[in-house]
Amino acid sequence: MNSENIKALKALLSVPQKIVIVPHKNPDGDAIGSTLALKHYLESKGQQAVVVAPNDFPKFLKWMPGANSILNFERDNGAAKKAVNEASVIFTLDFNHLGRIGQMQPFLEESNATFVMVDHHQAPADYANIMYSDVAMSSTCEMVYNVIEFLDDLNTISEDIANCLYTGIMTDTGSFKFRATTSRTHRVIADLIEKGAKNTEIHHNIYDTNSPSRLHLLGCALKNMVILEEYNTAYITLSQEELDTYNYKKGDTEGFVNYGLTLDGIRFAVIFIENKEEGILKISFRSVGDFSVNQFARNHFEGGGHDNAAGGKSDLSIEETTKRFKKILIDYKAQLTS
Ligand code: 5GP
Ligand code: MN
Repeated sequence: MNSENIKALKALLSVPQKIVIVPHKNPDGDAIGSTLALKHYLESKGQQAVVVAPNDFPKFLKWMPGANSILNFERDNGAAKKAVNEASVIFTLDFNHLGRIGQMQPFLEESNATFVMVDHHQAPADYANIMYSDVAMSSTCEMVYNVIEFLDDLNTISEDIANCLYTGIMTDTGSFKFRATTSRTHRVIADLIEKGAKNTEIHHNIYDTNSPSRLHLLGCALKNMVILEEYNTAYITLSQEELDTYNYKKGDTEGFVNYGLTLDGIRFAVIFIENKEEGILKISFRSVGDFSVNQFARNHFEGGGHDNAAGGKSDLSIEETTKRFKKILIDYKAQLTS
């Protein structure tokens, strides 16, 4: 964050504000962790702050301190709209264009609040008055830690804040192994543990609370995996029928896409998940090395994200989409095999 933006943020928070904090749709650990941590921090400074999420989030994140207070725009529509209408400041965390918040988009577009963006994705839009965008960052949670440091308040980080920030850094770095994990990330993590983050408990809460049906769904996904050796690519499909068979709950497919990358030589892994209600396939893309899935998702599947992790969607059926996908791959053969 440059000094001008830090100064502007300090000025903004030097007087009482009505603050709304917004994560992206289908919020993950980093989105929920960063928004809740910021809420706890702002409240400790005497501000009024509420997290308004576009929709629900997985059960494995519901233990997080403050999770009960999150307004869900789908479920708590009246209260959520009221909070957005009355906000003098809106923080948008872990996304960088308003198309990522689904049905909330028009309400934020109409708002006269001061917008603050904190985000680590590629190609930020320009809706924010105060912007902290850095694609080199491991996670939005690491950036919220930096924001607290810019505001000279590291000593105010409570156990709750530490637990929230630890969670998002852990989930967005694949437990501290992805490329954006730096020595600085580890220093931040060390400080969060010193400030009370319960690291072992957090790992357990996020990763070791499987249901039998989720493991069976994973079995189904792995059975469906198609390996395209000539492209160093593996993809998985899950139909709505398969999701229903295994009693799919939000968050159950989290991490499935990564299994493709555990195959020796595979550089590009994809999962196509049917969502009958929305009439789309939700797609996750992952890569190792220089192949940019952000660019791939942007070019062909109305999505985006990071170089090695991105998302997108398709309006076609599973069969039509995978057929199209395989046709597109032909143009990437050199990149994927060089
Ligand atoms: P996931 O595959 O875990 O849903 O998302 C991977 C990364 O891509 C995350 O950082 C997520 O925020 C981003 N992402 C997921 N879906 C979309 C999308 O439809 N559009 C854009 N721009 N980013 C996405
Ligand atoms: Mn993130």
